[in-house]
Order: sequence, then C-alpha cells, then structure tokens
Amino acid sequence: MGWFSGFAVTLRQIRKGKVTERFPFEKAPKPVRAHGRHVLNRYEDGMEKCIGCELCAGVCPARCIFVRGADNPPESPVSPGERYGFVYEINYLRCILCGLCIEACPTGATLFGKKRELLEIARARVTAEPDKYVQHIYGEHEVGGTGWLYLFGAAPEKLGLRTNLGTTPYPELTAGFLYGVPLVFVLWPSLLIGLNYLIKDSKVEETKEAPHGEQR
Ligand code: SF4
Ligand code: SF4
Repeated sequence: MGWFSGFAVTLRQIRKGKVTERFPFEKAPKPVRAHGRHVLNRYEDGMEKCIGCELCAGVCPARCIFVRGADNPPESPVSPGERYGFVYEINYLRCILCGLCIEACPTGATLFGKKRELLEIARARVTAEPDKYVQHIYGEHEVGGTGWLYLFGAAPEKLGLRTNLGTTPYPELTAGFLYGVPLVFVLWPSLLIGLNYLIKDSKVEETKEAPHGEQR
C-alpha cells in the first residue's frame, strides 16, 4: 500500500463516528469468526478428555502445541483411556486461532470458549467441588487477568506458581515511564535549544553594545 492509499484509509476513518464500548457494562457483539480461548475439557465424572495422542500438535500449522502423553496410573487414572495428557501447553504468542486443533481432537477434549464463559464454568466447578479444588482461579486476577486459567487441588505455591504477582496489569506499571518519554526526548531538547539561542543572542547584543577595543 502506497502512502496515498494509507492517507485515504486514515481520511475514511476520520469521517466515521467514534466507537466507545462501555465494557464490561455493555457487551459489544463479537465478530462471527472470533474464537475465544482454548479450554481442556473433562467428562461429567471429572475425568480428563485428553488422551495425550498429540494429534492436535500434529495438525497445528503454527507448531505452537506441546503435548506429552503418559500412561494412566492404574490406581488413579486421569482419563478413561490408557494414556492421558501429562503436559499440554499452547504458546499463545504463536497461535493463530485457526481452530484446527479443535477439529482434530478425537475426544472433543479441546474447545474454544470466551474468557467470561470459561470463568463461569470454572467458578461453577470450584463451587460445586470444594473438596477437589482450591477456591482460587489462578489467572483470573493475577497481573490484571491472564490468558490462562488454572484450577488446582492444592495451593498454587505448592505447584511452583508465583502468588506475589499482584493484580495490577503490567502495562499500568510501565505507563508512567512511557508517558514521560515524549517529555524527555521532545520537550527537554526543545527547551535546551531555546535556552541556547537566548544565551547566544544576549552575548551578541552585549558585544555590540561594548565600546570599540573594550573586551568583556
Ligand atoms: S488454533 Fe490453530 S494455531 Fe492455535 S493451537 Fe490450535 S491449531 Fe495451533
Ligand atoms: S487435546 Fe485431543 S488431539 Fe490433543 S492430545 Fe489431547 S486428545 Fe489428542
């Protein structure tokens, strides 16, 4: 796109009215193709649906899924099959939300869901099964809310997760510095250059006013 087309896009947008969404009080309709986030599903009895087959990782065009399956312990099986997903990770920096992993899954273990809906499911689970889950949805409030939500049967710190992250979103921590950057890099140089000119001008005038031969 050339610079003229770029300006044309900008001008077209200027003529449109501003769109202010009063989220979360008013929820704007999502685009039809918006997918949401992945969730690893369970059966009604609490058994995990994932069997660690790695099919989702195989079809992922962005190569962002890492699955490691493991044999189910006979005394306390995690899933109904022989194996279960011992590790299941998605790198959201690379995910393009194409949905192929959801289609490939033979057990319907992965689903796309909107964060609000996932939180409702998570809250219902921890409330319904207080003996099974700690009453804390890790990721709901940490650093202002993360893309990952975890339910635990033990305190997060026992599982090696940090609990001192606070609830302030990380962008807020750097906002003060970033707002100060224009001040430092634009206003300060302009001020110093202006002062420099003023000082130079006053020196020139002093030299002009001084009598011939007299040096100041
Ligand atoms: S949605 Fe697409 S890119 Fe994202 S993890 Fe699934 S297959 Fe990979
Ligand atoms: S999420 Fe589905 S496709 Fe992926 S490893 Fe688990 S069972 Fe297999």
